[in-house]
Amino acid sequence: MLDLEVLDTAARAAHRFLVGLADRPVGPRTTPAALRASLGGELPDAGVPATQVIDELARAVDPGLLASAGPRFFGFVIGGALPVAVAADWLTSAWDQNAGLYAAGPAASVVEEVAAGWLLALFGLPADSGVGFVTGCQMANFTCLAAARHAVLRRAGWNVEARGLQGAPRVHIVLSEQAHSTVFAALRLLGLGVETAMRLPADDQGRLRADAVPAALARCDGPTIVCAQLGNVNSGACDDLAAIVAAARRHGAWVHVDGAFGLWAKTAERRRELAHGVETADSWATDAHKWLNVPYDNGIAIVRDAAALHAAMATGGEYLIKGAGDVRDELDWVPEFSRRARGFTVYATLRALGRAGVARLIEGSCTIAERMAERLRTAPGVEILNEVVLNQVLVRFTPPGGGDPDAFTREVVARVQADGTCWLSGSVWRGQAVMRISVTNWATTEADADRSVAAILRAAGS
Ligand SMILES: *Cc1c(COP(=O)(O)O)cnc(C)c1O
Repeated sequence: MLDLEVLDTAARAAHRFLVGLADRPVGPRTTPAALRASLGGELPDAGVPATQVIDELARAVDPGLLASAGPRFFGFVIGGALPVAVAADWLTSAWDQNAGLYAAGPAASVVEEVAAGWLLALFGLPADSGVGFVTGCQMANFTCLAAARHAVLRRAGWNVEARGLQGAPRVHIVLSEQAHSTVFAALRLLGLGVETAMRLPADDQGRLRADAVPAALARCDGPTIVCAQLGNVNSGACDDLAAIVAAARRHGAWVHVDGAFGLWAKTAERRRELAHGVETADSWATDAHKWLNVPYDNGIAIVRDAAALHAAMATGGEYLIKGAGDVRDELDWVPEFSRRARGFTVYATLRALGRAGVARLIEGSCTIAERMAERLRTAPGVEILNEVVLNQVLVRFTPPGGGDPDAFTREVVARVQADGTCWLSGSVWRGQAVMRISVTNWATTEADADRSVAAILRAAGS
């Protein structure tokens, strides 16, 4: 007999967690030893009833959960999950479609197709671009750069899918010293090398110096890929894409944009200028699980030359039933084979928000970041190190009685984490220790921002 009581148990546990999310301490309240004690032990010989497993699991993990989905979490660049996205994610699990082939899940395939079209329209990118729904921006960078590698080598008369890189023409990589670590990881995985990439200087906000690009390109004879960025992971700054793409076009180079969260600037009227010229690039990597506030894992790879993405990713197999003609077999657009139908959450979230809702979400985060920066800036001993153009704020603290600002800034970060009102992390910006505030959660209100600023100033003794 089909007993689904366990699903109701899970739904009740989810309700309890989400209702309490805004009030619980934001940081975890446990130790590895305590978690091992409550979760560990021998694998039982006999099974345990499903409802008991879920009940006990929810209780045991609770002290080890970070309230990163909550409204006063400003660490890394995380984002929460809108209720509609969580609901669609639950259904995705219940439906358990293998979103590799149209034949294995027609609805999953068509939902991806529709969501891809909506995303392209939202970002103002070419409507016939190829799109892959991957696990995150790491894989989106990888996927886009695989398409780039295919295209620049094809133009040089080399089929990299058939022959690999052994004996291939050299592929030049030009990027910023501020490129995200996942771009370097993608280059490593693609056999393009990390130390061989040409690293250009960034300006004081972390933007690739566009004026350095033409001279760098002049030193690249042959296939070339330029990696640019929208949304520096520390400062939120965006590269001048119009200038970078113009220089790359003169050289015949491919331009890839890592826009994990920065690409979303394109959706909000007041931030759009930051992404000026982005639509002229060749490929774009972004995340849905950060600023669109869908659950993990959900990243998006977009490539103007859909045929290049297809050539880099498509997989065959005697037993596969490939869709005829105009249907989307998802495995042709991503590195994975069997995979989660992650288009459902993006589809549901975009439909629930609409264009206006997405714009409000993005602009709302930016406005709150500005508000926090303004309130912190006016306190004694507090300095804001970046131009707050997007959702990121870099804060530095000088000890009230004088002393080392680096050590004190790290100390303030640790005190705020221990206090539990909000949670954020530290970083190093241009050689200086900073506190890093990232606003990406749909639920964060001005009151949350003000409470968090008060907690930060308390920790700094300002
Ligand atoms: C977060 C981030 C990534 C990596 O994205 P994941 O979704 O964590 O894989 C890449 N680039 C930038 C700029 C980021 O902020």
